Amino acid sequence: MTLHITPIPLFSDNYAWLLRDGATGTTAVIDPADPGPIEAAVMAAGGRLDLIFLTHHHDDHVAGTDAIREKFGAKVFGAAADARRLPKLDRALKQGDSVAVGASEGTVLETPGHTIGHISFYFPGDPPALFCADTLFSLGCGKLLEGTPADMFGSLRKFAGLPDGTLVYCGHEYTASNARFALTVEPDNAALRERAAEVTRQRAAGQSTVPTTMAQEKAANPFMRAGSAEELGRIRAAKDRF
Ligand code: ZN
Ligand code: FE
Repeated sequence: MTLHITPIPLFSDNYAWLLRDGATGTTAVIDPADPGPIEAAVMAAGGRLDLIFLTHHHDDHVAGTDAIREKFGAKVFGAAADARRLPKLDRALKQGDSVAVGASEGTVLETPGHTIGHISFYFPGDPPALFCADTLFSLGCGKLLEGTPADMFGSLRKFAGLPDGTLVYCGHEYTASNARFALTVEPDNAALRERAAEVTRQRAAGQSTVPTTMAQEKAANPFMRAGSAEELGRIRAAKDRF
């Protein structure tokens, strides 16, 4: 079964994602923060929007939710843990819950760290796809605004268990600045140096660096490579000062 995935760039560096199930035409959007570009993308894909998936409560991910819900009559799914500070949910999600976009079945992963109630969506299709918003970035991870290093370490361990070929759809285009910091942590990491060079080429050509792959992040992302919560915490604190 094919899940068609389209990026919707928002603001200066956010990504929302449009998901359309090839078998049924069922369509979902992840993090519809800015209604104008979201509506345009939905109309370009046929004008149907069934589902809205929210990853976490920050405005740059959820602000357009009510406008888009009203416009298309879509149902809104988000974390049970954060229901009180998300737009009104039609379904509250927990770790391991199944979410279906037509015939494409996904799973909810609770991934605290950036916020306490942050969730990610994993679709084990071919190729597998992970929507991880502000938990994992290419060559970086989200700021620990609410959670602890141990929270983030546990969340990234969940991701590390996914197949290497998983396409990683992050919530921001932060890769170039993440690469500059990552090289200060692991200056001799060949996979990182290669990825950093690729990112420089991609950005110079005006291309997106997202999605990345789980294999690439395991090889080059210092936060994915941290061996303990303490080590992750030290790297995160250094990035905050960078
Ligand atoms: Zn955020
Ligand atoms: Fe964000």
